[in-house]
Amino acid sequence: MSLKILGIDLGGTSVKLAILTSEGDIQQKWSIATDILDGGKQIVPDIIASINHHLDLYQLTKDDFSGIGMGSPGAVDGDKKTVTGAFNLNWKETQEVGKQIEEALGLPFYIDNDANVAALGEKWKGAGADDPDVVFVTLGTGVGGGIVLNDQLIHGTAGSAGEIGHMTIEPHGFDCTCGKKGCLETVASASGVINLTRQFSENYAGESQLKVLIDDGEDITSKMVFDFAKENDALAVMVVDKFAFYLGLACSHLGNSLNPKYIIIGGGVSNAGDFLIDKVKKNFEEFTFPNVRQTTKIKLAELGNDAGVIGAGYLVKADQN
Ligand SMILES: [Zn+2]
Repeated sequence: MSLKILGIDLGGTSVKLAILTSEGDIQQKWSIATDILDGGKQIVPDIIASINHHLDLYQLTKDDFSGIGMGSPGAVDGDKKTVTGAFNLNWKETQEVGKQIEEALGLPFYIDNDANVAALGEKWKGAGADDPDVVFVTLGTGVGGGIVLNDQLIHGTAGSAGEIGHMTIEPHGFDCTCGKKGCLETVASASGVINLTRQFSENYAGESQLKVLIDDGEDITSKMVFDFAKENDALAVMVVDKFAFYLGLACSHLGNSLNPKYIIIGGGVSNAGDFLIDKVKKNFEEFTFPNVRQTTKIKLAELGNDAGVIGAGYLVKADQN
């Protein structure tokens, strides 16, 4: 019988854990709260205790597993198995995550950053259909991504490959948290959609329910903007068309330079679904040259919150194949 894999998706509010088959199918999953108090020093011990508890519960031992994979926020060193500067975990100093987990559980441990791991999940068991060449773009509170070519995650010379959120799509655009202007993240994250909405709203004089809400000082969410656009609210349609232009442009650069089989769009903002993807595709097709236009496809992500634990499992599988 082939061995199982443990997948861990470490986030700022919860840690998701799963027991996977060697083929990446989830057999059991659960989650625990992330305790970021006290410099986050309970996080790894809590994970170890929770794994031990669940192995007992399911009458499993370490001999049933080939390894443990983890996705983490912050700057991850996959060779040293450490995490640095994960500020949403209160981890300011370098954390010896791999050392602690390997010593406690006696299994090989693999780690990469959360966006890369989600990309591996979608590549393996989601919209990527296990194709070797897949790019993942996640639109959430920020914009992240991961690039998988020839079944390998691309890290670059200093670990920043796949930072799709900081691709410049408007040279004199909104200020980004990275210090640059006009990054994809400033228009395509949840708050980016609001940046665009406020900009368009200021110069808009026609009929729009969305504009009435903004002028009344109501809190606007990206979901509201997409919902209004689906109902043909003129201001919301302008915002979503511009959003789709920027995202389609960014995807065209990925397509023209990498020619993956799929560019997969996920994250909370992508819940607008086919309505959004169809508009992105139109721009993507306009900005790609014929061979890329015909061979690289834009798709919606399929795994939702499970992408992280499944992709973490792929780290184990990829190394042991
Ligand atoms: Zn940036």
